[in-house]
Amino acid sequence: MELYFETAASLHSMLKNKKITAKELTEAVISRIDATENEIGAYLTVTKENALENAKKTDEKIAKGEEIGFLEGLPGGIKDNICTKGVKTTCASKILENFVPPYNATVVEKLLGVNYSLMGKLNMDEFAMGGSTENSAYKLTKNPWDKERVPGGSSGGAAASVAAGSAVWSLGSDTGGSIRQPASFCGVVGLKPTYGRVSRYGLVAYASSLDQIGPVTRDVTDAANIMNIIAGNDAMDSTSSKKAVPDYTKSLVKDVKGLKIGCPKEYFADGMDKEVENAVRAAIASYKDMGAEIVDISLPHTKYAISSYYLIAPAEAATNLQRYDGVSYGARVDGEDIVSLMTNTRTAKFGAEVKRRIMIGNYALSAGYYDAYYLKALKVRTLIQQDFTEAFKSVDVIMTPTAPTAAFKIGEMEDPLKLYLQDIYTVPINLAGVPGISVPCGFTQNNLPIGLQIIGRPLDEETIIRAAYAYEQENNWKDKRVGGEN
Ligand code: GLN
Repeated sequence: MELYFETAASLHSMLKNKKITAKELTEAVISRIDATENEIGAYLTVTKENALENAKKTDEKIAKGEEIGFLEGLPGGIKDNICTKGVKTTCASKILENFVPPYNATVVEKLLGVNYSLMGKLNMDEFAMGGSTENSAYKLTKNPWDKERVPGGSSGGAAASVAAGSAVWSLGSDTGGSIRQPASFCGVVGLKPTYGRVSRYGLVAYASSLDQIGPVTRDVTDAANIMNIIAGNDAMDSTSSKKAVPDYTKSLVKDVKGLKIGCPKEYFADGMDKEVENAVRAAIASYKDMGAEIVDISLPHTKYAISSYYLIAPAEAATNLQRYDGVSYGARVDGEDIVSLMTNTRTAKFGAEVKRRIMIGNYALSAGYYDAYYLKALKVRTLIQQDFTEAFKSVDVIMTPTAPTAAFKIGEMEDPLKLYLQDIYTVPINLAGVPGISVPCGFTQNNLPIGLQIIGRPLDEETIIRAAYAYEQENNWKDKRVGGEN
């Protein structure tokens, strides 16, 4: 297999065993970027020099016989809403076109602590609002499996780069599915941790009560290793959990005997693509052969999840986005007075979807409608949380499709409501704050990847990692690469 298609774990051991050098690998990834970026468009900023510099240091350490960490010398990308000191962080928005953060997000500090190698910043829907990366103010990202299709979103660049071989691993953010759905569309693994497991400090806020950062990788082993680096309490994020972080690599065992898997009937309803349904059902059935127990469950408030999410997320977004006023930082379009300066700036620099959400959010929060919309949505959120609490009394994990369809065509979801409905299987997980992972579970006849979503109890990433790993070992989906290379 080409070097740029290997998993992080395999590249790490090749480096340690001196089968390759970090320089060779970094150059291979850079040539891959040069060969694919024009078509795929996964990156907003490429930091080649930085990656080469890291490679040099890594090779020197190896030559001296020093230990190297898991990500040393392995070029990876970071979604462009995670602050990287000295490297532009635009959120794919014109309003932050020239924003160079003076500080690092906590996850980036943690990555620096293990000498990670930054290859660049990845494309996304503007401020993470969307499910196709078509809302980026800068460029389209294309699905490496079929360039007429979207990579999913909002972390489209994070998933497309890992699938295309232009990053070995990446970090995305997930507010309502933005790690899992693009992972599913691009045939890679995406993990959304429990709310509070990974610090949000330095993640540009979209909807603060839902946002989480997580890894996008080629297999479950890589996801577990990256979780070991980024998870943990942070004094800079008061919502981050104080619970000790386990060693997630200990969950990389092929053992699901006696595991109770819940299969929610509401997730296998109308609107799901037949090929997706068949692949997901086959995956769940294969757990039975591995000794797990499949239990039919109900999550009765699922049907209200989209309405509740699309009130809560825009309400929080409208509040969070007030800071882009043309004064504090970011772009400015002048006006005659302060009000027109702010109006001109926001009118010119926010995209259509961001404006739509600001309007929905402010409407839902306004005095006359607060009770009817925002407060009601919060009550529904509690009911959805209770559905999960109830279900987890009788099962260890819940399995569902990640998305109702495989990747759709660019332009196919022009109607925003149609796109919102695509989030039906992912948003309840954020509303409940529980962890979820998407793993490849097959391909459609058109060779488009399909994802299986595994949902766990709060702070029980270990069990979803174990379940995902066991399935991955039973199949060879993870070995399939774009272009048929194996
Ligand atoms: N598609 C959802 C939205 O547009 C989820 C986005 C996300 O997780 N960042 O809000």
